[in-house]
Parts: sequence; C-alpha cells; structure tokens
Amino acid sequence: MTDRIEQLCVDKGLRMTEQRRVIARVLSRADDHPDAEELHRRANEIDKGISLATVYRTVRLFEDAGIIERHDFRDGRSRYEEAPEDHHDHLIDMNTGDVVEFYDEEIERLQEAIARRLGYKLVDHRLELYGVKLKGGE
Ligand SMILES: [Zn+2]
Repeated sequence: MTDRIEQLCVDKGLRMTEQRRVIARVLSRADDHPDAEELHRRANEIDKGISLATVYRTVRLFEDAGIIERHDFRDGRSRYEEAPEDHHDHLIDMNTGDVVEFYDEEIERLQEAIARRLGYKLVDHRLELYGVKLKGGE
C-alpha cells in the first residue's frame, strides 16, 4: 500500500529512494507534529541505516515540494506534518509541548475581513495560540 505522502512525492516527480519512502511513510502515519529527531527515531524502527542528516535533507525536500508543512512552535525545534487538506490552526501547551489542532469559522472570517479592510485578499495565514491548561475552578 502506498501512503499519501509517498503518492504525492510520486505525483510531484520526486525520485523516491527506499529511505525517502520510509520517511514518507513515517510522516504519513504521524498524527502529531514530530521534529526531525523524533522522525529519525521512528524511521530507525523500520530502517536502522537512516541517518539524522538524511531525515533533515528529506523533510527539506518534502517541504520545498509543498508536501509537508514545517512549524516553529517556539521551542527551537522545527516540527513537521503532512500539508493538511483542510486548514487548521494550533494551540500549544506551554508546559507539556502538546499541540492541539482546531478550526474556528469565526476566526477564519475575521482574518479575511481584516485583510480586506487593509486592502488585501487573504491567501494564507498561520495562527498559533500558546497556553497553559486551566485547573478546575480557574
Ligand atoms: Zn497540525
């Protein structure tokens, strides 16, 4: 079975080596936002021969091709996820580093309205919320 990212690579004409295929598969199966070191760890479970340098090169290649997105959630590590078909934004838990995905109609509309007011048609945006979990009663 071909995973989605692998298929996108083929569609975009990227030459797929076995190692790239493994990294593509690991990315396709991730439902979190792993950094390069975490991807390296997961890729090594499948193929011990994959170096961290190869992971870095490969995510760069996939990113340049628009197949995955890179995020900087302010912890000094780039995180990666498959470029989503449906847009979502992120909330980052500042204590645990957990990343929560969300989508809000009202925010989407508001952003378009702001861009329009400033004389622009909105093409893209990134929104990151940083928070700490509420304890009961707060
Ligand atoms: Zn996400």
